[in-house]
Amino acid sequence: MQRKFDLIVVGGGSGGIAMANRASSYGAKTALIEAGRLGGTCVNVGCVPKKIMWNAAAIAHVLDEAGDYGFTARVEKFDWAALRKSRDDYVAWLNGRYQAGLEKNGVTIVRGRGRLEGGGTVAVDGTRLHAPHIAIATGGRPILPSWKGAELGIDSDGFFELERLPRRVGIAGAGYVAVELAGVMRALGSEVVLFARRASVLMGFDEMLREAVMREMTAEGIEIHVDTRVEEAVREPGGIALRCTGGLRVAGFDCVLWALGRGPSVAELGLAAAGVRTDAAGHVVTDEFQCTNVPGVYAVGDVTGREALTPVAIAAGRRLADRLWGGRPERKLAYENIPTVIFSHPPVGAVGLTEAQARERHGDAVKVYRTEFTPLYHAFTRKKSRAAMKLVTVGAEERIVGCHAFGPGSDEMLQGFAVAVRMGATKRDFDDTVAIHPTSAEEMVTMR
Ligand SMILES: Cc1cc2nc3c(=O)[nH]c(=O)nc-3n(C[C@H](O)[C@H](O)[C@H](O)COP(=O)(O)OP(=O)(O)OC[C@H]3O[C@@H](n4cnc5c(N)ncnc54)[C@H](O)[C@@H]3O)c2cc1C
Repeated sequence: MQRKFDLIVVGGGSGGIAMANRASSYGAKTALIEAGRLGGTCVNVGCVPKKIMWNAAAIAHVLDEAGDYGFTARVEKFDWAALRKSRDDYVAWLNGRYQAGLEKNGVTIVRGRGRLEGGGTVAVDGTRLHAPHIAIATGGRPILPSWKGAELGIDSDGFFELERLPRRVGIAGAGYVAVELAGVMRALGSEVVLFARRASVLMGFDEMLREAVMREMTAEGIEIHVDTRVEEAVREPGGIALRCTGGLRVAGFDCVLWALGRGPSVAELGLAAAGVRTDAAGHVVTDEFQCTNVPGVYAVGDVTGREALTPVAIAAGRRLADRLWGGRPERKLAYENIPTVIFSHPPVGAVGLTEAQARERHGDAVKVYRTEFTPLYHAFTRKKSRAAMKLVTVGAEERIVGCHAFGPGSDEMLQGFAVAVRMGATKRDFDDTVAIHPTSAEEMVTMR
């Protein structure tokens, strides 16, 4: 095998693959090292299989409401094993597509665990590769708890290996992974109990969204314990019990899931030996151009501790390749106004500042518009669901700095609004845009 390259990318997930393909398209001789399955977290244990499960849950909701729309629908059963097989087959097909894409673009794929040795060298299982440019794109992994009985639980990777739908699941955590997986399992029929360390789920999101998500999750039958820390998991004859702060003890789980956030995947990567600086949590420290403190060594994606989203990793990787080989020396990713979606039921979409962040930065110059309504879809379903939207504006011109939506379609809706926010749209621009009726999105341009 050839040993000298222009670029070595360590990690074949969203960021690494995007960067390798882009660099290769400019003629850079590129090697990509991957220890596991190509596609990384997103393809194998993240966005893709998660969205398939979310789709299944959305179908369960529709079936539940079909009667309100005149159907006499009777569903015999939901077959978890069949769905899992189709999902896993699709993911395996995607793994192959990524491999074919890299090969077509002339990227050398090296299977194994990469370890930086300094001086432009990366070792993979005894083989040494050399390049003047090295990109670290090793992503992240679930953080596991240190409490007693932690081994009784699974993490989000384990969720995708479950052979059957849990009858009763306890979830420790309140971030987007906890909220999304809770919603999926509840819709498909599990009893779900969620333990949030703080006063709400989705801390960091706008208060209106947090309240709306909590309200809807509770209405769906998810039992939420806020301000509650799990302290121990114990196996008992009737299942697993969780002992929590305040003397709370909840028992009878056949599955417990730890969704406590993610940390950088840097173990045995040789960062210290190569002199690459990391922060207290182990993330690789980079500047605005994705450069580390070591010349010729870069990092993109979750390992940098910035917004942990697939399109962010992809954009950072591609822009870095554009800068190094595409003749665009100014090219970099601006880490602001990054839209994000929580695939709850219904979903959340958000871009820009929360109301609290805007008030902290801009004080009295902030003006907020908000609305709450029952989407037409739910106007005559037995089960009601309220949607909520908020626009956060700043200054006399009312420039929109935050756009937040909860309700059916918010996931698809937000991409277009994110373009407007990024372009500096004002409330007046929104007001002057003719609504699309009847939709939920029209509320975004008719708020008063
Ligand atoms: C349950 C879940 C749901 C998610 N849903 C969404 C979503 O809906 N939308 C969204 O945008 N994002 C979502 N994400 C986040 C998204 O998956 C990540 O932000 C994204 O995958 C980050 O890409 P990356 O390239 O930084 O790392 P990764 O995709 O994690 O890729 C890193 C790769 O590096 C490999 N690797 C690690 N160390 C080494 C080594 N030493 N040598 C060789 N290879 C190595 C790993 O095997 C892995 O394949 C989700 C994540 C999870 C866990």
